[in-house]
Amino acid sequence: MTTSKIILVTGASSGIGAAVVRRLAADGHHVVAAARRTDRLDALAASSTGSVEVAGLDVADRAAVTALVERVRARHGRLDVLVANAGVMLLSRLDAGLVDEWDRMLDVNVRGLLNGIAAALPAFRDQGAGHLVSIASVGAHEVVPTSAVYSATKHAVWAITEGLRQEADPGLRVSTISPGVVESELAEHITDPHARDAMRTYRAASIPPEAIAATVAFAIDQPGDVDVNEVIVRPTRQRP
Ligand code: NDP
Repeated sequence: MTTSKIILVTGASSGIGAAVVRRLAADGHHVVAAARRTDRLDALAASSTGSVEVAGLDVADRAAVTALVERVRARHGRLDVLVANAGVMLLSRLDAGLVDEWDRMLDVNVRGLLNGIAAALPAFRDQGAGHLVSIASVGAHEVVPTSAVYSATKHAVWAITEGLRQEADPGLRVSTISPGVVESELAEHITDPHARDAMRTYRAASIPPEAIAATVAFAIDQPGDVDVNEVIVRPTRQRP
C-alpha cells in the first residue's frame, strides 16, 4: 500500500516530468508540479487524477528554488521527495561554439540540481528522512560526438547524486534514474542542424515517458530501509 508523500517534481510541464506528476498523483501522493510554463502545469493539474499543486519555477534561480521548498514546508509541514527532473539537451559539436547553450545546460542540468539539493537537504535533515530522485541519462554513462557538454552535465548529475548518497545521514534515500530515448520535447530545442539530423536517426526507437514515471514510482514506494540507487531504462531496441 502506498503511503502518501509530499513530492516536488521539477521540469513538470512536459515529457517525463509531466508523466511523473500524473503517476505519483494517481498513486495517492500530493505532488507539487514545478516548471516555468505554468499554463502547461495548470492543464496538467486539471487533467490529473489526485492531488496536484502548481508552482512557477526556474531551477537556475537558487533563491526561487529555496523559496518554493520553504513554501511547501510551510504549507504541508514537510517535503518527502524531490524529483530533480528539469533538464535541457542542446546538442552540438564543441567547434560549433554555441557557448550560450553550454551555459544553459550547465545552469539547468547541474546548477538546477544543486539548487534543489541545497534547498531540500535542510528539510530532509530536520525530518530524519527524505528522498532525492535525480533524472540523469544514458549520457551519464557515455559520450558521443555532439554530446560532450550534455553528457558532462549528466555525468555531473550522476556524480553529485552518488556523492550525496555516500555523505547522507541515515534515512536519506538517493536514486539516479537514467533514461534512454524517451518521447518528449527534449530534442526539439536543438538548434544545431547536424545534431538535429543525427538525433532523428538515434531517436527512432523510443519509449513513452510513463515507463520512466513507473521507475520513479517504484523507487519512491520501496520501504524506508530500501534505497534504489540507480536504474537505466532504455527502449529494448536502443543501440548503443
Ligand atoms: P522535455 O523537454 O519534454 O521536458 C523538460 C522539462 O524541463 C520541461 O518541463 C521544462 O519546463 C523543464 N525546464 C527546462 N528548463 C527549466 C528551468 N530553467 N527551470 C525549470 N524547468 C525547466 O524533456 P524530457 O521530459 O525528456 O526531459 C526530462 C529530463 O529527462 C531531463 O533532465 C532530460 O535530460 C532527461 N532525459 C530525457 C531523455 C529523453 O530521451 N527524453 C533521455 C535521457 C534523459 P519549462 O520549459 O516549462 O520550464
